[in-house]
Formats: sequence, C-alpha cells, structure tokens
Amino acid sequence: MVHFVGAGPGAPDLLTLRGAKLLSEAGCIIYAGSLVNPALLGMAREGCSIYNSAEMTLEQVLEAIRAAEVSGQDTVRLHTGDPCVYGAIKEQMDALDAAGIPWDDTPGVSSFCGAAAAVGAEYTLPGVSQSVIITRLAGRTPVPARESLAAMASHGASMVIFLSAGMLEKIQAQLLQGAYTPNTPAAIVYKATWPEEKIVRCTVGTLAARGAQAGIRKTALILVGDFLGRGGYERSKLYDPCFTTEYREASQ
Ligand code: SAH
Repeated sequence: MVHFVGAGPGAPDLLTLRGAKLLSEAGCIIYAGSLVNPALLGMAREGCSIYNSAEMTLEQVLEAIRAAEVSGQDTVRLHTGDPCVYGAIKEQMDALDAAGIPWDDTPGVSSFCGAAAAVGAEYTLPGVSQSVIITRLAGRTPVPARESLAAMASHGASMVIFLSAGMLEKIQAQLLQGAYTPNTPAAIVYKATWPEEKIVRCTVGTLAARGAQAGIRKTALILVGDFLGRGGYERSKLYDPCFTTEYREASQ
C-alpha cells in the first residue's frame, strides 16, 4: 500500500513518530525533492528504492508505486510540510483508488506552523483575529477570481501566503487594496526550521523592498496581520480567573 507522509517543514526531528516508523519500514520512498530535507532519507532501510518526484510526472510516480506493489513493497510518498496544503495528493489518491491500491495519510507539521514558531507568534489572538487565511498568488496554477489576494485581504485576518515569494510587489499592492494598511506588520520567513532559516520582519508597506534587500525569491512564506504586532490583543477567556469552564470553577 501507499503511505502519504508529511515530512514537516525542514528540521528532520519535526517528522512525526508515525512518519518515522513508516519511513524506516518502506520498500520504496518517493520524496518531493524540491523541499523535503534529504536528511530524512537517512532513515530508509537498506535496499529501499528511492525516487525524487521533483523529476517525475504523476504517471511516473504511479509507475514507481505499481512496481513496488508488484514486488510486495509498501511505498512512502513523502510530501513537504503537511500533504493537505498544496501537496497535489488528491490526484494521487484518486489514481490509487482507480488502480485498487490502498493508501493512508500521516499528517506533518506544515510550514505555516513552522513559520509561526520561528517568529514566535500566534495567528488567532483574541481581539485581533480569529481566522487564518492560507492562500497564494496565481502563478502557473490559477487561483479562482473570487479568491484573489485583494479579495482575501478585505477581511484583515491573519494571513499566510504560500508559493509567492517571487512576486512581493504584486502581493504588497493587492494587500493594500484590502483591509491592511502600509503599517500592518508582516514577515517573510525563509526556510523555516532549516539551519539557513531567515526572518525578515517588515510592514505591508515595506514588504517588497525588504524582500528584495534580503534576496528572498523562493521557499518562503509571507505572514501578514496585526497578530505580528506588539500588543493590542485581549487575554484569553480560557485562562481568565473570572471565567468558569467545564474543567475549572472561576476563582474570583
Ligand atoms: N505542503 C507544504 C507546502 C507545499 S507548497 C506545507 O504544508 O508547508 C511549497 C511552498 O510552501 C513554498 O513555496 C513555500 O511558500 C512554502 N514552504 C515550504 N516549506 C517552507 C519552509 N520551511 N519555510 C518557509 N516556507 C516554506
């Protein structure tokens, strides 16, 4: 069978225990070579067939899986971060269903979680934002018109922009068409959790200039929103002494 596994954002020890077990038992590993840390391949058992999917088409990936099935081997399909975000897994799952090959899915730490950890932020601050918009600019993959960055920006919510670090000027312009202002805090997080991680803190107004200055064009996330600011949030109700919950009586 095929195990889809989230490799995590980069640091090898951010792989889940379940992912590590599957990786060390697989007879075949197909990894997304553009972003998966190759250090993870060191966990493969001897004789494991290893393929870099960055150099393969969907058809070639399926062919490698079929070959492993024929020789009675399980395949780990290793995707960066969590496979459910920009992972192109649905087309693989559907093809496997059609071929009668069983699969399961082991989640991983998405890079948007790795980036929040890197900057020490919480996306969902009471009184600031209770939503996280995960989006991207259109590249060769189109984005539905109703999900244009300017439309998404109208909410002023916490936002994480994937796959778009090479288009910072466009991002900046579209963010300013929404609810953000030139002073809204932003950050560019390059290779979160890798040794070469780089964090550029800026504002929406300085995003493009600061990104160009740092020379960041890919493998980065753009974080936007007041959650990156210094304060302005409310205390949580959950840990408020005046608040009774299912587990704790109010003490004041
Ligand atoms: N499934 C992945 C995303 C794959 S799309 C996940 O859950 O993270 C690839 C994009 O993810 C990159 O262009 C970049 O925007 C982002 N990305 C992946 N790993 C990253 C990292 N360690 N640091 C910053 N951005 C990362």
